Amino acid sequence: KMSTKSYLSSAADIACLMSTKRVFLFDCDGVIWNENTLVPGAKDLLTRLKQLGRQVFLVTNNSSKSRAQYVAKCRKLELPIEEADIVCTAAVAAGYISKLKLPGVTYVIGSQGLQDELELHGIKCCGFREDDDTAVHDQGVEQFGDAPLRNDVSCVLLALDTRFNYLKLLKACSYVSAGALFLGSNEDAFLPSGQPSPTVPVRLPGTGAMLSALCVATQQQPAAVMGKPHRPMLDYAVQLMTEARPDQQPPPLSQWLMVGDRLDTDIAFGRRHGMDTVCVMTGCTKPADLLDLSEANSELKPNCAAESVADLLPHLAE
Ligand code: PLP
Ligand code: CA
Repeated sequence: KMSTKSYLSSAADIACLMSTKRVFLFDCDGVIWNENTLVPGAKDLLTRLKQLGRQVFLVTNNSSKSRAQYVAKCRKLELPIEEADIVCTAAVAAGYISKLKLPGVTYVIGSQGLQDELELHGIKCCGFREDDDTAVHDQGVEQFGDAPLRNDVSCVLLALDTRFNYLKLLKACSYVSAGALFLGSNEDAFLPSGQPSPTVPVRLPGTGAMLSALCVATQQQPAAVMGKPHRPMLDYAVQLMTEARPDQQPPPLSQWLMVGDRLDTDIAFGRRHGMDTVCVMTGCTKPADLLDLSEANSELKPNCAAESVADLLPHLAE
């Protein structure tokens, strides 16, 4: 049946996309789940895609969890997802850094899950937790207490850190200025928040806010950003497919589909790298955002728009 909402794609257009793709990438928050609640239909769609032998990836810019933590979350939600299906910025960063075989240690602004993933890949880390305490800093910038600057930091990785502070910024800034490789997890400006508030609505700053602080202070841009819309996330998915089936070439990107809720990360990721894209309305994009897109914003324009992942399932061909 034809949609009565002008921003939504016709069933025929969605069927055309769904029936021809072999690799399906799903953003997580706002597409598969919202925080800890599954989006209705997500489990059925993932299950059916796997039954049909399609490659499925969950692709998230959320740097706070390791792949093992995502597997645990998926198990709890009863999703048919295993470690080799998860592309999260922590794992992409760990793969990226370990390939470089840098000497020395990586200064991490981030979270426990991120640090666990890095250490699992043999990357030596410093900074996280030990620089949480801002008290040393109230004594003045020369007073580092138990945490002086080191001379063996070869890389600075900045991800979401809810204990971000001036001391961490100062150290990251010093290491980058001294020549350490500057990497960012992702550039999301703010995070989805369902938190009720008795006063004003909560707006949670994202990794991009902290990354900007480091860019301004160092007057440098990161050498690479792991998350959507950037390339490392795609390279990692290709690597996972090649590891799973060394005898097979991954399908061309024209046979990949990116399903997301955010235009400047998910949809731009697909478009920039040659994939078709579907925007769903269960996350942060509102109908007006789609209708407002001008031709100048073609990188943000999805091929199709659907109410939710539940609307994709009926259009899967055998
Ligand atoms: N980063 C953090 C810390 C988050 O909590 C979230 C969503 O919950 C995101 C990024 C966005 O995640 P996704 O790329 O799965 O939408
Ligand atoms: Ca999302």
